[in-house]
Amino acid sequence: MYQNTLSSRGDSPVSVIGAGIAGAWQALLFAQAGHAVTLHERSDGAMTQSTSYWAGGMLAPWCEAETSEPLISRLGIRSLELWREHFPDTPFNGSLVVAHPRDRADFERFAKLTTGHRRLDAGALNELEPSLEGRFREGLFYADEGHVEPRRVLPELHARFAAAGGSIKFNSDPTEDDLDGVLIDCRGIFARDRQNDLRGVKGEIILIETDEIKLSRPVRLIHPRWPLYVIPRGGNRFMLGATSIEAEDNGVSVRSALELLGAAYAVHPAFAEGRIVEFGSGLRPAFPDNLPRISIDNHKIAVNGLYRHGFLLAPALAELTLGYVQRGVIDNEVMQCA
Ligand SMILES: Cc1cc2nc3c(=O)[nH]c(=O)nc-3n(C[C@H](O)[C@H](O)[C@H](O)COP(=O)(O)OP(=O)(O)OC[C@H]3O[C@@H](n4cnc5c(N)ncnc54)[C@H](O)[C@@H]3O)c2cc1C
Repeated sequence: MYQNTLSSRGDSPVSVIGAGIAGAWQALLFAQAGHAVTLHERSDGAMTQSTSYWAGGMLAPWCEAETSEPLISRLGIRSLELWREHFPDTPFNGSLVVAHPRDRADFERFAKLTTGHRRLDAGALNELEPSLEGRFREGLFYADEGHVEPRRVLPELHARFAAAGGSIKFNSDPTEDDLDGVLIDCRGIFARDRQNDLRGVKGEIILIETDEIKLSRPVRLIHPRWPLYVIPRGGNRFMLGATSIEAEDNGVSVRSALELLGAAYAVHPAFAEGRIVEFGSGLRPAFPDNLPRISIDNHKIAVNGLYRHGFLLAPALAELTLGYVQRGVIDNEVMQCA
């Protein structure tokens, strides 16, 4: 990190474009730091057009280390502190990784590639999640991980931003020339007009309702073909997710639905008696290296490429952007200056 004093704009008004998880955290931290902030969102308050609406909301830097660069863990662990600080009610019940005996080699591989876990035998597993009693012989418990419910936490972030003095405008699609001061572009996959190396990685999910299973934390099932997670939601609902497909269409294919439902059945056969509430998909905004990027071009800043880690990374990225705008601090791993 180094200081770039030329870039200091401590008193500037700030416009944030896009009220998904990236933009919402940027807006909140800038407003709390005393800036006059306007958050513009093209869609309405339901946010159904955003990728964030479809996310699992897992805050899992240790599990994600299986497939990601150390940068994700670094930013993710800092983000956990910010979630705890700003949203003390965030459930930090940990996450659980399980596998059937035939997938033991993949389970061991996952254990080796990740840290921050402890092994549970069948008894300890049953104590933690009684609904899974007798289903698995062992598990990995990542005690410090958390999860949020995106469709609840986004409106909470927006409300917290407004309470900090920020102004949020839905159905607002401003042109850059209309905006003064610092501009923070958080348009996710819609920012391809400016960031042409962005791509969408499709993630499909299914929402199921059943009162036969109770879970207190996300459960990941190791499987060679369909790694799946089940995330508990309010109202006896569970999100089953998620596929990861290099495609940019919408909707859920029959193949993906079969695979997700099959994997859920492998976690617990009682899912077969559940009611399907919703099928859906979102496009994860990703750069070729699948890493987040803060691009800086004078007073224009773009925060994008949050890929499969938007909820995990958004607070730390907002803190970095604020540090740049207020004090000129550059983080070379994340920031690119024009
Ligand atoms: C199935 C699935 C599961 C996932 N699970 C997890 C998970 O468990 N944990 C995790 O950390 N991440 C997860 N992710 C990743 C996460 O959802 C994304 O990284 C994140 O949502 C990206 O957020 P964003 O704010 O960059 O984009 P978005 O959420 O898409 O927000 C961009 C916003 O900009 C608005 N916009 C676009 N153009 C304009 C304009 N011109 N003017 C005004 N507004 C505009 C859009 O309407 C949109 O609301 C998951 C993703 C998917 C698809």
